[in-house]
Amino acid sequence: MKDKCLAIIDDVDKLDSVDDGFIHYQLLRFCQATRLQYLNGQLSIRNQNSLQQQHVDRKIADALLKKGTKGAYTSWTQQDRAWVDMVLHLPHEQGGFGVTNNTVSRHAALYASTARFVAFLGTFSRDAQQVWLPGNNLDDPSTWVAPPLRMLQHLHEVLVQDYECTDQPAAAQLSQPPGPAGGAAAGAGAGQPPQPAGSQDQQDGKLILPQLNRLHEVYKRNQVASSASASSQDQQPAKPTIPTQKRVTQQLTTHWPLFKALRQTFANSRFAQQLQLHLPQKVKATDQDSALRIEMSALEDQADDGKARELHWKPMSWLGTLRPTTVDDAWAPAIWQTFFTSTLGLEVPVLSSLPRHHNLPAAKCGCKKFLLDTHGDHISTCTAHSGATKAHDWMVGRLGPLFRTAGHRVRTQHGVSTSAEGRQKRGDVEILNYLQDAAGSRNLVFDLAVTHDRYGSSAQPLHNGLLTHPLNLDAPLHVAARQKINKHRDLYANNRNITFMPAITSTSSRMHGEFLRLLFLQAHRETTAHFTAIGMPAQQHCDAFRFRRAAFYNGLKSKVGLAAAKTAAMRINLNIDGCGVVAPPVHSSLRAPHLLANLLAHNLPLPRAAH
Ligand SMILES: [Zn+2]
Repeated sequence: MKDKCLAIIDDVDKLDSVDDGFIHYQLLRFCQATRLQYLNGQLSIRNQNSLQQQHVDRKIADALLKKGTKGAYTSWTQQDRAWVDMVLHLPHEQGGFGVTNNTVSRHAALYASTARFVAFLGTFSRDAQQVWLPGNNLDDPSTWVAPPLRMLQHLHEVLVQDYECTDQPAAAQLSQPPGPAGGAAAGAGAGQPPQPAGSQDQQDGKLILPQLNRLHEVYKRNQVASSASASSQDQQPAKPTIPTQKRVTQQLTTHWPLFKALRQTFANSRFAQQLQLHLPQKVKATDQDSALRIEMSALEDQADDGKARELHWKPMSWLGTLRPTTVDDAWAPAIWQTFFTSTLGLEVPVLSSLPRHHNLPAAKCGCKKFLLDTHGDHISTCTAHSGATKAHDWMVGRLGPLFRTAGHRVRTQHGVSTSAEGRQKRGDVEILNYLQDAAGSRNLVFDLAVTHDRYGSSAQPLHNGLLTHPLNLDAPLHVAARQKINKHRDLYANNRNITFMPAITSTSSRMHGEFLRLLFLQAHRETTAHFTAIGMPAQQHCDAFRFRRAAFYNGLKSKVGLAAAKTAAMRINLNIDGCGVVAPPVHSSLRAPHLLANLLAHNLPLPRAAH
């Protein structure tokens, strides 16, 4: 274990030369942070060298922070550092960066692999079990003396006592004689309703663990059903299941004492708000006010008791998707730093390193009205610069091609033209004949906006940096969507060939429901086209179709998630690099080549018309 830790620490240093922040992050996350998992599943807690494992966690976090904060982390307080470490380790479901934390996950690794080992031995005959573990009866934990079994007992106890886990309801209470009276008594006696098989979660967030004396049944085939009468099948206790290592880690993470203390310390701070902004979102697939309601309702489960479909979005989950990337997915160091720091709620290096003139507390924005705060709040809302438009147009350029994959023709309109006529003619992206109803086919037009969750250009300086809607984090998305609809409604009101919808994300990569519906619909279209192409019937309710659609949907989400995050970061960097406000005054003829080089570095399309 010690050698392995040293080897990892050594390898982390070698990755330092990777320039692209995103690739560097993925290499550390997937190829280094996971390397201790196998050993942790096999070695007793006492032999796991917990201190060395903490060194590994620290080393990986250091490497990420070195790239992500431009070295600023070296001057932080211990508390701030502890918070950032936590967010790096939290899973995407909790708004974090999802880098495995060995200090926490080693317990889950050992629990999951030992529990599975016991379940595996349970499929052996008694005699064979005795060969492997002489003197230990799998169904009687009081006889367990073998070190791995003792360790499992210990872990089970800790999980139940300190981490909100609970034993599966006892089998005895459920196997009472049949009959209405007996059933009711059993229900009352158990104190809690029996869990459906396979379910690991209770309503209150408790994790259900199989009882130790029943672990050996987990992998056994059901033999009772064939020998007993049919009616006794209902009385069979739910078969115990072993929670996945991932699920146990999640439970540990949620209730880890250090993390709990940090959440209290930083309650209501910018740190905590940023974490909250990156929590998963959920929207109804079919909504009466949606432009896609006809299409989406056709995709609902048609069974009478079918549950209405929900769509999910995790703002951070694109970080965990491995897929072939193009040059558009590249993250130059300065852009990655802006994404990394603004996601966490830290000062953005490109802003905090700006020179300050005339003894001002901060550099002044090119709009001449505001000072530039170092978190990027003003710059993310100020439209006085070309950076906002350029970042927006870059994302439009990424979105257009996503809708060509199922054979639709797509027109994209870059907002290069600033004349009122040119800009108002049509939304950003038009997909021809995308929608169908009784009257025929219509084009879908959507207009992209990236909104900011905080005040930036408020007339009252004290508001700057505060959340605009602290009690409803989705409200900025709804406000932006409403504005787009109001702006475009009249334009399309008399046009039966066009349906308009807003496509809204936020600078924290949150997503408006309408945009998410469109992605799901597009995934469905891609899947249908895929099945047609391989000569199979596209049956939307069969598993093969659903699995394929889920894969396409995730692919689309990861592309859009990356594009949204990068757009938000580019908006900040392009304003700084392109506006010439902070640098000593330069002649406009000198500024142009600088802007050009900058565009090339970010793989931005060149403007069609020279300014
Ligand atoms: Zn400004």
